[in-house]
Amino acid sequence: MKQGKLLYAGKAKSVFHTDKKDTLIVEFRDDITAFDGGKKDTLKNKGSYNAGVSAFFFEHLEKHGVKTHFLEMLDNRRMAVRRLEMIPLEVIVRNVAAGSIVRNYPFKEGTKLDPPVIVIDFKDDTRHDPMLNDDLIVALKLATPAELKAMKKAALGINRLLSALLAKQGILLVDFKIEFGRQGKTIRLGDEISMDSMRLWDKKTKESLDKDVYRFNKGDVMATYNRVAGRITNAASLPAGTKKKPAAPKKGAASKRPAVAKPKAKK
Ligand code: ADP
Ligand code: MG
Repeated sequence: MKQGKLLYAGKAKSVFHTDKKDTLIVEFRDDITAFDGGKKDTLKNKGSYNAGVSAFFFEHLEKHGVKTHFLEMLDNRRMAVRRLEMIPLEVIVRNVAAGSIVRNYPFKEGTKLDPPVIVIDFKDDTRHDPMLNDDLIVALKLATPAELKAMKKAALGINRLLSALLAKQGILLVDFKIEFGRQGKTIRLGDEISMDSMRLWDKKTKESLDKDVYRFNKGDVMATYNRVAGRITNAASLPAGTKKKPAAPKKGAASKRPAVAKPKAKK
């Protein structure tokens, strides 16, 4: 497959055309941002960890009947995907209260949310991704009631599958954000599911294993991503086409990586 022109460069990934009309390439860059782009850095190898974990999850979900955009990994950071007409919604599933839900509502951090809470934000950086409700989504023609129902059902199914998978590795899936798109009449899961888009806590220690380490300067981001990617993919079962293990948890590997404890702000 030949990579063509750049279609879109987002905050952390670039999307390219290919010689096939319905296929795109998503490149996971090493850029990381938080707080609406207010905090920005480039962290070596970050893209490959997120690509590897995303591919691993997409394959797992497909195996269990979830329709995703994933086709194959082309190298450590480039993924061939089905071209979707993206729906500008951020579908967030929360199992435990943390992050914005604690800042904005009287939830105590760490409270279990059972049944899980789905929150849908408008993917619009200029408006700071405001929360929507079903009526607003339909009134804004972002999705039909049937599409909305399908996305919520898929989101809960994905939550069950990923929670169970992560639990086996001693990881609690606190919350995650997903994006869907249309391929004709079919709604598919698009974008990524990675340490940038999930909130993960170690079950025993409650230590953050995700982008919160970066957001709140909780430690060495890349050492965390390396370790957690290894735990999630279990090292042995990497997606086809991933030549180099993105995160084999070798002894001392984290300490040999470039120091990123004090990331240099780009701006
Ligand atoms: P953003 O800053 O907009 O979140 P990202 O850095 O996450 O951008 O880059 C990925 C972009 O590509 C997102 O806008 C996402 O909606 C879009 N995208 C993801 N998967 C697909 C797909 N299968 N087809 C078309 N666009 C996609
Ligand atoms: Mg994004």
